[in-house]
Amino acid sequence: MSTSVARRRARTASSMLGHPFGLGLVLGVGLFVALWIGGALSDRGAYAPGSPRVEPTPRALPPPATYPTIRSDEMPRPALSPAVEDVAFLRLRRLQFPVPSTDPRRLRDDFSDSRNGRSHEAIDILAPRGTPVVAVDDGVVQKMFHSVGKGGLTVYQFDPEGAYCYYYAHLDRYADGLREGQELHKGDVIGYVGTTGNAPPQTPHLHFAIFKLGPEKKWWKGAALNPFPVWAPPRAG
Ligand SMILES: [Zn+2]
Repeated sequence: MSTSVARRRARTASSMLGHPFGLGLVLGVGLFVALWIGGALSDRGAYAPGSPRVEPTPRALPPPATYPTIRSDEMPRPALSPAVEDVAFLRLRRLQFPVPSTDPRRLRDDFSDSRNGRSHEAIDILAPRGTPVVAVDDGVVQKMFHSVGKGGLTVYQFDPEGAYCYYYAHLDRYADGLREGQELHKGDVIGYVGTTGNAPPQTPHLHFAIFKLGPEKKWWKGAALNPFPVWAPPRAG
């Protein structure tokens, strides 16, 4: 290259750079190319054909709040004595009051009274001699027993499940035709109020008791339950 040609080209380049738009044109094209290459490279990184698209790892969700299902009969219950639970159960059975002509609200709780040096373990229901006495529950006449010095004419009734024994004492007489093994329905007349046995002759009453039977199911063997709360009105509050 001759010196004159080199000088001419140098002049041309310097005149372009010196042109008001020359420098801006060069910088603009360079910027465009730089952006195009950068964009292509970044796209290839994320969506390169042939490589599996990487899905974001799903974030582990907390397990749904679950609570154990509790049946009503599994609900935690306050600790009660067995006798209290039995009385609550018998209340639910809605036992018939054994002397229907007498108001249960006039009943006095004499279950724990001392009688002849022993705990009474029954309730006395005062009523005129000859007042009908009825079965408090369905069941069966398990035993008709004449206890001369104690209960007098008595009936031992088992409930349908043989879990409880209802005891009726000091009867004046039995209902006509009553016999051992007879099926009873709640409200059936079984006898009449009297003073047989050791009851004061001037105080006819029904001595009534409830016994929880043991596994041997003997009419003379059982744990006495207080019948009083079975018919007591529900406590206020
Ligand atoms: Zn009594």
